[in-house]
Amino acid sequence: MATVALDHIVKRFGALTVVHDLSLEIADREFLVLLGPSGCGKTTTMRMIAGLDEPTSGEIRIGDERVNERAARDRDLAMVFQNYGLYPHMTVAENIGYPLKVRRVPRAERDVRVRTAAERVELAGLLHRRPAELSGGQRQRVALARAIVRTPRLFLMDEPLSNLDAQLRTVMRAQLKHLQRDLATTTIYVTHDQIEAMTLADRIVIMKGGRIQQSGTPAEIYARPANTFVAAFIGSPP
Ligand code: ADP
Repeated sequence: MATVALDHIVKRFGALTVVHDLSLEIADREFLVLLGPSGCGKTTTMRMIAGLDEPTSGEIRIGDERVNERAARDRDLAMVFQNYGLYPHMTVAENIGYPLKVRRVPRAERDVRVRTAAERVELAGLLHRRPAELSGGQRQRVALARAIVRTPRLFLMDEPLSNLDAQLRTVMRAQLKHLQRDLATTTIYVTHDQIEAMTLADRIVIMKGGRIQQSGTPAEIYARPANTFVAAFIGSPP
């Protein structure tokens, strides 16, 4: 059963159409990467799945349910974006536990779950710090821990590693992969970085100009790019 389905999605901003009749299904537990150059409509697509933006037309389903009219907080998903969105006045523990607090999870249970999530991303020693006292990679891990402290049916990640330096990005990529094997939660991941896509994805969907160019496993896309754009973008051998 598909966990997420986009059915003939169109998104316009005024006269500008940024997503053209896009249809896509994401399978249960799949790690799907939306890949493409800046401006191709990846973030807009993600925001519509998240409930931060509404499609101009078309239907979005999560599980069996049409979610077009559902607010972001009612879609049972967790998001990690590139600016992390941490609360500066809260400690690491409070930041990680926030999604549980707003759902009125009792304090004792919250503490246990925060600790478990923090241990998963190797933050257990930093729970009392504030975001300003952390490195970029540590902040990124707080954002990840906050996403996994619940068990949502869907993770959405939009360029979560793009603010990190190259070395840290490689480390975090490996951690994400590890986490993904551990949690087996359906994930949609947006990036313009083909190496990131190749490393992380079960399946890659390549976009250009608001349209899907190709969908396939990293190996399929690399070996058999659908067109010259895909070949150039992925760096397939000629
Ligand atoms: P990507 O994530 O692939 O870089 P985006 O989805 O952010 O691309 O943007 C796709 C296109 O939509 C771009 O041309 C962008 O300028 C435009 N766009 C995005 N959001 C808005 C908005 N709120 N109003 C008008 N245009 C927008």
